[in-house]
Amino acid sequence: MTVKRDIKTSWKAATRLVHAGQVRSPFKETSETLYMTSGYVYDSAEEAEAAFDNSQPRFVYSRFGNPTVAMFEQRMAAIEGAEAARATSSGMAAVFASIACQVKAGDRVVASDALFGSCQFILAEILPKWGIETVFVDGRDLAQWQQALAKPTRVVFLETPSNPGLRLVDLKAVCDLAHAAGANVVVDNVFATPLLQQPLTFGADVVVYSATKHIDGQGRCLGGVILGTEKYINETLQPFIRHTGPSLSPMNAWILLKGLETLDLRVRAQCASALRIAEALRGHGKLTAVQYPGLKDFAQYDLAKQQMSAGGTMLSLSLAGGKAAAFRFLNALELVLISNNLGDSKSLATHPMTTTHQRLTAEQRAKQGIDDGLIRLSVGLEDADDLIDDVLNALKAV
Ligand SMILES: *Cc1c(COP(=O)(O)O)cnc(C)c1O
Repeated sequence: MTVKRDIKTSWKAATRLVHAGQVRSPFKETSETLYMTSGYVYDSAEEAEAAFDNSQPRFVYSRFGNPTVAMFEQRMAAIEGAEAARATSSGMAAVFASIACQVKAGDRVVASDALFGSCQFILAEILPKWGIETVFVDGRDLAQWQQALAKPTRVVFLETPSNPGLRLVDLKAVCDLAHAAGANVVVDNVFATPLLQQPLTFGADVVVYSATKHIDGQGRCLGGVILGTEKYINETLQPFIRHTGPSLSPMNAWILLKGLETLDLRVRAQCASALRIAEALRGHGKLTAVQYPGLKDFAQYDLAKQQMSAGGTMLSLSLAGGKAAAFRFLNALELVLISNNLGDSKSLATHPMTTTHQRLTAEQRAKQGIDDGLIRLSVGLEDADDLIDDVLNALKAV
């Protein structure tokens, strides 16, 4: 059961972010209604029966659907240009359900190797235990994709730009190869946000988000969302979600709806500051590299231009002095906070080697381009000059 408010096809993203999906109660409130309820009542036993045999679709239990959650799902679908969406309790619940609902023992999954740590864990540790073969490739290398996709494959999973190395995958080329191998392509689009990159337009079948990141964007709650065709969402995903229960709380759906209203403003401002910081740091003597997809000397700049409308809110810096230098840098920051979250209105810095990617072996980290001095910087909404001052001052302490 979903709610629908028709949107005009001419509405641009910023307009959809504010209005799409809202259904008003008879009180005609301005703001989205928070339906904080686990269950629903029926006027008669016959009505309950009709709800359960689906002859009278309606909300029956909030594990299956809830009006506030449905508003969030509709708004996300309207921004992404997807036929349908399902919200989940976290980004990882979205990643797991989006893949697990479509694989069985004996199937094959091919993924890029530069992934968020928990996504890598699902693919490398959990799925193989259930008899699913997973193959990792360097996501930047089309020859590796081609070789891995020479065999029939059920699912392709990738992240672009990747966390934290900001490596890009050529969406169009990989989707074409995947489809020829019979695979559905699932894209984790967290770093790009729905505003900077639309994987469905390059041929992806499913897009997933950790809504915890830019969609909330204000450090308040966890959430996730899965987008795709009506057929995939209703027939493949919904039975899996309905019975395994990674449902989003109505409270969190409401927070995320309010987050979406300002997503366009926030992401634009964060991208502009990220580019300024990247330019200010390029060539700095204490850094061996500054990675930002919006910089002209970024290794995959042409691909970034082709599939992203801006460089994003994230950049990574490699300190010449390894872990010790990275720690001195982090500890010298006064404005930017040390945190492993990202996409927040507060600027956040993390050392992936010792936090988010600690579980990987040194060899795995090296393969993903995570050197010991790598710092991931999530650019927030502070004044860009203040951020540049803070980062440059902290570099002096190294
Ligand atoms: C944070 C993140 C996730 C996981 O999301 P949670 O909301 O923390 O569960 C998945 N993929 C990427 C790229 C992320 O940054």
